[in-house]
Amino acid sequence: MSTPQLSPARDARVGDLPVRRALPTRGRRTVGGWCFLDHLGTATYREDRRYDVAPHPHIGLQTVTWLLEGGMVHRDSLGSEQLIRPGQLNLMSAGSGVVHAEENPGLRSGHLHGFQLWIAQPEGTRHAHAAFDHHADLPAVEVTNGLATVFMGQFAHGTSPARRDRDVVGVELRLSPGPSAVAIEPRFEHALVVATGEIVVEGMAVTPGSVAYLPPGGDEVALTATEDTVALLIGGAPLDDPVLMWWNFVGRSFEEFATAYKSYVGRDEPFGDVNSSLARVEAVPPPTFIERH
Ligand code: MN
Repeated sequence: MSTPQLSPARDARVGDLPVRRALPTRGRRTVGGWCFLDHLGTATYREDRRYDVAPHPHIGLQTVTWLLEGGMVHRDSLGSEQLIRPGQLNLMSAGSGVVHAEENPGLRSGHLHGFQLWIAQPEGTRHAHAAFDHHADLPAVEVTNGLATVFMGQFAHGTSPARRDRDVVGVELRLSPGPSAVAIEPRFEHALVVATGEIVVEGMAVTPGSVAYLPPGGDEVALTATEDTVALLIGGAPLDDPVLMWWNFVGRSFEEFATAYKSYVGRDEPFGDVNSSLARVEAVPPPTFIERH
């Protein structure tokens, strides 16, 4: 396959929670339909460190939450309330708009560690009503020296039951030291992010805090874990409909963002209330003028 590219993820914070933002980065906005990838933590829960995320809006994207440690309660303006634990998938499809919060389920010790990703919705679903799905039972397939849990799309002999608006794949890899050759879809570009441990891919060491981009064209990727490793492999068909991202919104124009902003501030449908004790996140108005080149 073509040479992979290694880039640093960017350190950021979501409230008190330290994250490593692997997407978007300056050099790369998307991998397939995936347009956002935060590696959350590892953070330690304390009495004064709950890592709650207060109610905030989304449009035009699916949020994919995947935990390795800890827990979260998802609440949204559809009335959903769902605890998520490691190995489970929360998938919220924002469509024309939704408000959600992610709250500590009462944990005061231990760790929060995981991922939150976004998938840009295609034209066919991005104007639809919002939806929320939880999947506690996902297929796990054996790979050489490890186990892959398929939370989105199809990988090896496993197919996730989760709704898929785009042609994407998302897999958690748990690898023991040694080589693992895994089959991948040649039409897809992929990204590999390591949560703990180290994976050498095509001679390049991928550790937490960096992201490896694998261009389309290969039907197999050779991964060698040098220690017990947990990683995420995501992929998808490269976008042919470039998307615009601003704040928590994915769309095609700033006019759309301005409309969504006004509705959220006005608490108009579909940006209704969330059953949360936390105050809504204050929105920043989108720029009204876009410099075009
Ligand atoms: Mn969110």
